[in-house]
Amino acid sequence: MKFLPIFLDSKAGPILLIGAGDPVRARLRLLLAAGARVRWHATDGDFAVAGLDAVAASRIERLETNPGAADLGAIVAVFCAGAGEIGVTVAARARASGLPVNVMDDPAHSSFIVPAIVDRGDVVVAVGTGGASPVVARRVRERIEALLPARIGDLAALIGRWRKAVHARIPDMPLRRRFWERVVDGPIGASVLAGRSDEAEDSLQAIADPSAYAGASAPGTVEGRVTLVGAGPGDPDLLTIKALRALQDADIVFYDELVSPEILDRARRDAVRIPVGRRVGKPGIGQDAINRLLIDAAKSGQRAVRLKGGDPFIFGRGGEEIEALREAGVACSVIPGITAGLGAAAESELPLTFRHEALRVTFLTAHKARDASSVDWSALTDRKMTVVVYMGTTAANAIRDGLLAAGRSPETPVGVFARATRPDAKSVVGTLDHLPALVREIDGGPAILVIGDVVSHSAPWRNASPTPLFHTFQMAAE
Ligand code: SAH
Repeated sequence: MKFLPIFLDSKAGPILLIGAGDPVRARLRLLLAAGARVRWHATDGDFAVAGLDAVAASRIERLETNPGAADLGAIVAVFCAGAGEIGVTVAARARASGLPVNVMDDPAHSSFIVPAIVDRGDVVVAVGTGGASPVVARRVRERIEALLPARIGDLAALIGRWRKAVHARIPDMPLRRRFWERVVDGPIGASVLAGRSDEAEDSLQAIADPSAYAGASAPGTVEGRVTLVGAGPGDPDLLTIKALRALQDADIVFYDELVSPEILDRARRDAVRIPVGRRVGKPGIGQDAINRLLIDAAKSGQRAVRLKGGDPFIFGRGGEEIEALREAGVACSVIPGITAGLGAAAESELPLTFRHEALRVTFLTAHKARDASSVDWSALTDRKMTVVVYMGTTAANAIRDGLLAAGRSPETPVGVFARATRPDAKSVVGTLDHLPALVREIDGGPAILVIGDVVSHSAPWRNASPTPLFHTFQMAAE
């Protein structure tokens, strides 16, 4: 470590900034964002800065005197643009006064350097490479950005507000630390991160005995929770950042049959993994049993994740699970996922809506011919509506017959997208009258049917020439 990271109190006194141009303006914005007062010598006399609010602008003191002779009295730190003699002169004067100085792009004359910063309010992460490579620092910062919840700063701020009061009520330091760990890791922290700070504040307020709350082993004090997480259609890179965080945080993961092993691999290494989905030819354990497992896990104090293919609320029975959890008094939340229909559409460059051509989208399930016969096909004949069918492969005949009988054209473009976003994805495009034959082409696996003129814009359709009545297209596996 060549440089010691420390955090400067930006309100301890004015900061001197010398220089002109965009890099100096960027530095000025950073200083103002940190709440600093800035004495600025714009060496080209141009003090214009676009887009500052009045409060920030009022913290700038504009100086037009000789910057080399700038008054250093009361200054707490000095920033100087590097070009020319001025950097050397200012650095020497600052050092003589014992002031920290940074000369941009000139480590030799700087006594400190500015890190790449992840800013989450009260939580700030500084990334440095000892001045070796700002690009590497930025890449590291991007990774941390992706990892840190947006509201982690709110959580720190909440704890900051309560620190004194809790200190007074739990004088014992280890117990106090345990208390805050439970706040951060438990439902109160989760509420803050979900944007419900008021609720978190109320929960803190409601803790009658903080010492008992801190003692996790005391009966009845352990609070687990269930997070319904959308796993997306298969490609692990399509997990949301929130989903990834929930997986990394989970003690136990209940997953269904659509969740790929690559996604499961993203869970915390020591998390317990329990399959609860249907298997081919086997019925699965049933919804009531799943609900029971989730409730029991939460009540025993575990952070449970219910990992579901696609999005939990699109034909995923997430609604039923949330209701059961709510009824049982279990804390729960939902993280959306990319539903299979959207995954398939993006992968095949198939716009589900299209100006003037497709103005509506319907997501439909047609699990069995029986379900398909209960669909009101007459509501789906609008040529400007795209129909996305889930669980539709076994009912392909009934879907085609229903749509044709209701008056949709047999020439309507359709696509069958199997195992979308997975390495073995396969799509077949053609026309509605051939739908059952198209479905037979895909060799099983979960598949989405898309019915509507927009299919003719898709990559598989474009790659079929001249016009596909019946065409198979194997997605290139990476
Ligand atoms: N909640 C899920 C859907 C569950 S229903 C979601 O939002 O995607 C199961 C159906 O989803 C399957 O029968 C199939 O129609 C569709 N499906 C799921 N994953 C798929 C994938 N990778 N490719 C194509 N279809 C998929």
